[in-house]
Amino acid sequence: MTLIKILPENISSKIAAGEVVHRPESVVKELIENSIDAGADAIEVMIKRAGKSLIQVCDNGTGMDEEDAVLCIQKHATSKISTYSDLEAITTLGFRGEALSSIAAVAQLEIRTEMREEEIGTVIRIEDSKNIVKEKGSFAKGTCVSVKNLFFNTPARRNFLKSDSTELKHTVDTFNKIALAHPDLNFRFYNENDLIYNYTASDLPARIRQVFADNMLEALIPVEEKTDFLGVSGFIGKPALLKKSRGDQYLFLNTRFVISRQINHAVFTAYENFLEKGDYPFFILFVEIDPKKIDVNVHPSKLEVRFDDERDIYNFVLAVVKKSLGTYDLIPGMTFDLPGNEEKLKTDNSMKFERNDFSDRTGSGEFKSYTGTGLSDKDIDLIFNAIPDDVIKREPGTIAHPFENVPKEIYHEVPGDSSKNLTPEPAFIIQLHNKYILSQIKSGLMIIDQHFA
Ligand code: ADP
Ligand code: MG
Repeated sequence: MTLIKILPENISSKIAAGEVVHRPESVVKELIENSIDAGADAIEVMIKRAGKSLIQVCDNGTGMDEEDAVLCIQKHATSKISTYSDLEAITTLGFRGEALSSIAAVAQLEIRTEMREEEIGTVIRIEDSKNIVKEKGSFAKGTCVSVKNLFFNTPARRNFLKSDSTELKHTVDTFNKIALAHPDLNFRFYNENDLIYNYTASDLPARIRQVFADNMLEALIPVEEKTDFLGVSGFIGKPALLKKSRGDQYLFLNTRFVISRQINHAVFTAYENFLEKGDYPFFILFVEIDPKKIDVNVHPSKLEVRFDDERDIYNFVLAVVKKSLGTYDLIPGMTFDLPGNEEKLKTDNSMKFERNDFSDRTGSGEFKSYTGTGLSDKDIDLIFNAIPDDVIKREPGTIAHPFENVPKEIYHEVPGDSSKNLTPEPAFIIQLHNKYILSQIKSGLMIIDQHFA
């Protein structure tokens, strides 16, 4: 049964006009989106020469019958919308009916497809727009789209492509974004026949571990809030995961990766007490909203979006992120274990990382506490000798203590043995660069990052 129709002029003219195929990354995005819309739960991407010589996306989705396989490469050919009201409530990733026709215009395209319930499939080959070959054959169930020699007939656009490594990076970023948005699907990525990513279907936390690092979740705070109209869920970075680049901000609107200055701003505002100039918070946020209340038909890339209730969404995201940041205990729990009058400062939630990729911004144990065993006398001397003269030296008690309910002299008291400690040893406390507090403790030196404390 044919599902694809050519959109009538009165609808196609309402679709944001423009080119969707700019580089290998955009081809990969459009093809994976088609696979997801086709109900696939296993999607394999293969590229060669960063996608300049080959991009192939295979899925186990519904497949197409012969008529649809022929129709799908026509302009404005889509099975996803047919009326104007469909356009006002998009529930699929695609709806423009332009990706395959645009790709066919600038590359050699082959589509092998076989429907689940059929015995025989179809292959369509387009060498150039005048030369279309259709054959029948037995293929794997689902669809495999191969795009060869992208922009072979448009040298200006081919020359516009960047180096292989840059193009590969864009493609991998997009692949990972889509994989994050769909943790319930299996994804594989082959580069020059090497399997680079193999993500098995699971839940979001598992997918985050697959995409970033095994220890990534330990640097994140969960976010979850739902009303009848709006849902926000996902993870935000603990303040120690603040980044110096904008890259790691993942916003998914009804599982579509989008860029929204408004929502980004809301998240930034929630973090404002933690941000220094040039800092960017890390987040992976899923916003769920009635598709009638948004418009993704703004730009051909479908990356931009308009909200009907922009202000409400802004305030909701701001409140939810603020609340999640607030629930996260920025002050690590401390216990004082005093065997044999020897103090040991511990952080309850200190972590050990297997890989060192996030070990410098662990997010828990926000302040660095060095116990006596951590620093030798020589280290301590070195630190103190390096302190410039203009550093503010204060008497104990004049610095607002970061741990309000911890008595300032606690490091010098030995509970149960007050006779020896009637007069606590004067604490030596120094504030460095308005940022670090160095405090002498019996077993050595404690350095507190005030910012995080
Ligand atoms: P759109 O996704 O906007 O509808 P496309 O040009 O990307 O436009 O695809 C045209 C049509 O081809 C889709 O509407 C769909 O019916 C069909 N199609 C494309 N890719 C696949 C696929 N991987 N599996 C099944 N059908 C597909
Ligand atoms: Mg599409």
